[in-house]
Amino acid sequence: MNRSYNDSTIAAISTPPGAGGIGIIRISGPASLTILRSLFTPKDKKCSYQSHRLYYGHLRDPQSGRIVDEVLTVYMAAPATYTREDVVELHCHGSHLVLGNVLELVLHAGADLADPGEFTKRAFLNGRIDLTQAEAVIDILAAKTRKGVDLAQEQLSGSLYHRIDPVRQSLARGRAVVEVAIDFPDEDVEIADHSQLIRQLEDEVVAPLEELLAGAGRGRLYREGISMVIAGLPNVGKSSLLNTLLQEERALVTPFPGTTRDSIEELIDIEGVPVKIVDTAGIRSGAEEVEELGILRARELINRADLVLFLVDGTAGLSEADRTLYREVCHKPVIAVVNKVDLCGGREFDLAQLDGLKSQVVISAKEQIGIAGLKKEIYHQVVAGNEQWEEQGCAPNFRHKVALRAALEAARRVMITLEQGLTYDLIAVDLQECLDCLSEIVGETTAEDVLDVIFQQFCLGK
Ligand code: GDP
Ligand code: ZN
Repeated sequence: MNRSYNDSTIAAISTPPGAGGIGIIRISGPASLTILRSLFTPKDKKCSYQSHRLYYGHLRDPQSGRIVDEVLTVYMAAPATYTREDVVELHCHGSHLVLGNVLELVLHAGADLADPGEFTKRAFLNGRIDLTQAEAVIDILAAKTRKGVDLAQEQLSGSLYHRIDPVRQSLARGRAVVEVAIDFPDEDVEIADHSQLIRQLEDEVVAPLEELLAGAGRGRLYREGISMVIAGLPNVGKSSLLNTLLQEERALVTPFPGTTRDSIEELIDIEGVPVKIVDTAGIRSGAEEVEELGILRARELINRADLVLFLVDGTAGLSEADRTLYREVCHKPVIAVVNKVDLCGGREFDLAQLDGLKSQVVISAKEQIGIAGLKKEIYHQVVAGNEQWEEQGCAPNFRHKVALRAALEAARRVMITLEQGLTYDLIAVDLQECLDCLSEIVGETTAEDVLDVIFQQFCLGK
């Protein structure tokens, strides 16, 4: 993406491949309107191409005069557009063949094919959005739950930027004070009051950064979600539970023990958290060699899981094999789930004998009893100890987290240097470092290759 944004015009198909009601080609750059005029025959011959108005007509191949599609077009004059450049949208019939033909004409008329994310990159480079907002666009497209979409929308509206900006201003003020002290050493300019500067750093820099950093766990949770394993002996109801959680029959349910060998992965939404469920079909501790491979795989899955549902058959009582299996999973956060309560008439099933077990739920996977309670318990385990996440507006991603950490370290170094009365040069360096880290988050000093990595995550036409 090394073209000059001032003079090139880009175009791409902005709707997904396949057939649809309409398909949209987007054009951005100074030649947008010229390209539109060269291809479009408006029904209204007096068409004046007012900004942000839809016009009906036909797109024609200028060489042959052949009609390529019947369309609605809109010209949007800079700067009130997605990219802050002149933008044209061609609303065509949603056929990939038609869109391909139209795109070819547009490129022939002078546009360059846009890279993935290039429209959003222009919006960023032209200052319409900061980098956290551009990333929010990716998050909106990739969100797995409604909650994920909501969080991304908040970030798109600038919530993260508005938390970081006051911190940067405070740092800039601090740096100005220090620079005066450096520039006029002879004049005996002293930083008036070290303890006041330390307090200012504590309140206006360290505390807000710590708070933002604490929200990174929340960002990870709602973006990436967790992985949960359903573990249990054959026939306790793992596949049934998976099906019930998915509310549709996907896994193979079978009355014969140990017939599902492979594991199955599915995604469900628990209070907005994307939960990837793995059914460790056929896990069996003990000597059944047939399923040895399945057991190894199950162990691996358990080790990688964030949470284990340890399922037992409520009609059978806790067996030695259950206990052995429990020992395999108990190093993980575990919810013991007693299944088939519909058969055992609600009889209490005592799991107190399982060491260290903190959480137990009674359900019927088949009759869908207790499932809401199980979901609540899963959510409770997932956010355990982090309930304050809900009050925070921001959900920094991994890139933000790394930069926030570095900024925080630099700020703490400044405070130590101030306390020890060391040189102002050192303070100035660390203040600048802290500032740079924050500017990187919002995209003001972000390296070109980092930007490329971010914008490559977009799909074509965004
Ligand atoms: P898995 O081997 O652990 O995956 O167990 P399945 O889900 O295949 O279930 C084994 C058998 O138990 C099937 O016949 C299910 O219909 C039955 N089953 C599972 N859950 C329940 C339940 O809550 N109540 C009753 N009555 N039967 C269940
Ligand atoms: Zn199964």
